[in-house]
Amino acid sequence: MSVSTQRHAQYTRSLVFVPVFGSSHGATVHGAIVKRVQREQCGARYVYQMERSAQGSGLNPYLLDERGAAWRAKVRARSKLDQRLEKDCEVVPCPECGFVSAEMVKEARRRYLA
Ligand SMILES: [Zn+2]
Repeated sequence: MSVSTQRHAQYTRSLVFVPVFGSSHGATVHGAIVKRVQREQCGARYVYQMERSAQGSGLNPYLLDERGAAWRAKVRARSKLDQRLEKDCEVVPCPECGFVSAEMVKEARRRYLA
């Protein structure tokens, strides 16, 4: 059992270091989402729109797969964009009580102190 696991690990490692001649494709995508905030403490509900962009890259090994590389770059960029749209937030204080959530504070720190 442990022998086959080790073999697999070595195989994976050797793949990483195989030099590949080719080029890399880049793609940038943009998107927007409407975020809904429901505040239990003060009862307020509000929405705001958030925009994000993301980049992805795709390898074109041996210059044989130009369209495939462009497609992979776009798929990766979209996947990243979806994650960002879902997980990120904007710093929008509650219009009722001015409350700023912990994740918004984190976002503010990331933006202004980085
Ligand atoms: Zn509030």
